[in-house]
Amino acid sequence: MSINRLQHIIGGNKVSGSCGRIFDVYNPAKGEIIRQIEGVSAKDTENAIQVASNALQNWSQVTPSKRAQIMFTYRELIIKHSDELAELISQEHGKTFDDAKGEVGRGLEVVEYCTAINNHLKSDFSADVSTGIDSHNLRQPIGVCAGIVPFNFPAMVPMWMYPVAISCGNTFVLKLSEKVPSCGLRLTELIHEAGLPAGVLNTIVGDKEAVDEILTNPQVRAISFVGSTPVGEYIYQEGSRNNKRVQALCGAKNHMIVMPDADLEQSTDAIIGAAYGSAGERCMAISVVIVVGDETADKLIESLKPKVASLKIGAYDEPGVEMGPVISKQSQEKILSYIESGINEGAELKVDGRSEIKKDGFYIGGCLFDKVTPNMPIYTDEIFGPVLSIVRVSTYDEALTLVNDHEYGNGTAIFTRDGDTARHFTSHVKVGMVGVNIPIPVPVAMHSFGGWKRSLFGGSSIHGMEGVRFYTQLKTITSRWPSGIRKGAQFHFESGKDA
Ligand code: NAD
Repeated sequence: MSINRLQHIIGGNKVSGSCGRIFDVYNPAKGEIIRQIEGVSAKDTENAIQVASNALQNWSQVTPSKRAQIMFTYRELIIKHSDELAELISQEHGKTFDDAKGEVGRGLEVVEYCTAINNHLKSDFSADVSTGIDSHNLRQPIGVCAGIVPFNFPAMVPMWMYPVAISCGNTFVLKLSEKVPSCGLRLTELIHEAGLPAGVLNTIVGDKEAVDEILTNPQVRAISFVGSTPVGEYIYQEGSRNNKRVQALCGAKNHMIVMPDADLEQSTDAIIGAAYGSAGERCMAISVVIVVGDETADKLIESLKPKVASLKIGAYDEPGVEMGPVISKQSQEKILSYIESGINEGAELKVDGRSEIKKDGFYIGGCLFDKVTPNMPIYTDEIFGPVLSIVRVSTYDEALTLVNDHEYGNGTAIFTRDGDTARHFTSHVKVGMVGVNIPIPVPVAMHSFGGWKRSLFGGSSIHGMEGVRFYTQLKTITSRWPSGIRKGAQFHFESGKDA
């Protein structure tokens, strides 16, 4: 059987890569190769950047309202094709169809945010900062921008980036994950169908060779990265060293605190979705639950156990499936080695999902560990699989200290009925996105997404107004007209107080 070969989209044309490495794209539910793509070389990447640079002059002069019109049409096309896009995601990633449609919807919200780009680019104006002198700001495009994205959200994460960047008047090179390229390529076709001029968005699939060209090419002005912490830290350091603006959103170990007064049924349901949804392959997944008090912990575990053990696991197109496989054989093996290490270090494995390993496909069932301690690798490391650790503490203060001492600070949540505790938590926790009785507090498109500590390098969150600021450069204009000009030279800075 011949395997479908995908192509990159540069300058609106489909082109082959020439790095000499063929990436196999799997259906993780079957463990079979379903597509392939030859990655881009450094030279191909340089070409994509040049094409984006050539398109910049014209695109940056298109009015924001005209750019917004393309986003309106794009929105309609994404809605029309949302089943097809979700199917592509599920085929290559393995997540359930509903989950895939949900991520298309979240990406779509960013496109909707961009339909109002003329409003987001509105500037400040101050009249009479001194006699006859006015001052105003412009947010202008920064130039050629690039995005480097992970495998776990093939639609949503790319849509956090390029719709905002191009609505702001930039051109863009999007480097997709070699594990899940089809949805990003299809989204690129659709935006051209919506009227985007060729060269404004160029979508490539490649590995370190392509990334290193992006990091060193002087025409690239800004880089958005989403992925693991070691790669993100490298991209932040190299990109910054080459004088590029970089935002790198990275790994996570998200803690949820369950207080003794929390509704245990609601907490249980929240944990099941947040820890095991998408097989735990979400940067906002809950992978640690800190329970305050042994009595609460005992009750919570009794309530969780049957639900974890009965998770319906299978392929995205099987009816009623709640959790799919993990992305790859390597990922499955890595998760299994963490489960072994948890057992060897003395944590109690209350539900053992290894019984779900099948001959075909990269499956692991939900795993639940009790009595995990902060020195164990299953606590310290991002496992990125369906493995939940329960840590028992005696007080809220101990719980807060654990969250704050962890190296990652992407998301966190507290489950409680007590307003004082919730308020204390939201103001003192050192984490970027915080939920109160919300297990996965992913900000909606008009807010911004980003963690703290080693979950984000470069300080800038993504989408919403933070995204608009990241993809624009600020210009401040101070002007005076002849009727306001005083006679004689001035040897000091003018101030409103001089008037
Ligand atoms: P990854 O870091 O392996 O890959 C991310 C991107 O970097 C891919 O495009 C990949 O091709 C590229 N890449 C990989 N190795 C590279 C190297 N050595 N040099 C240059 N580029 C390289 O991440 P992944 O496995 O695809 O995704 C999972 C990770 O992403 C998890 O750590 C998860 O927490 C994180 N993530 C973070 C967020 C967030 O917003 N903070 C969102 C989604 C995923």
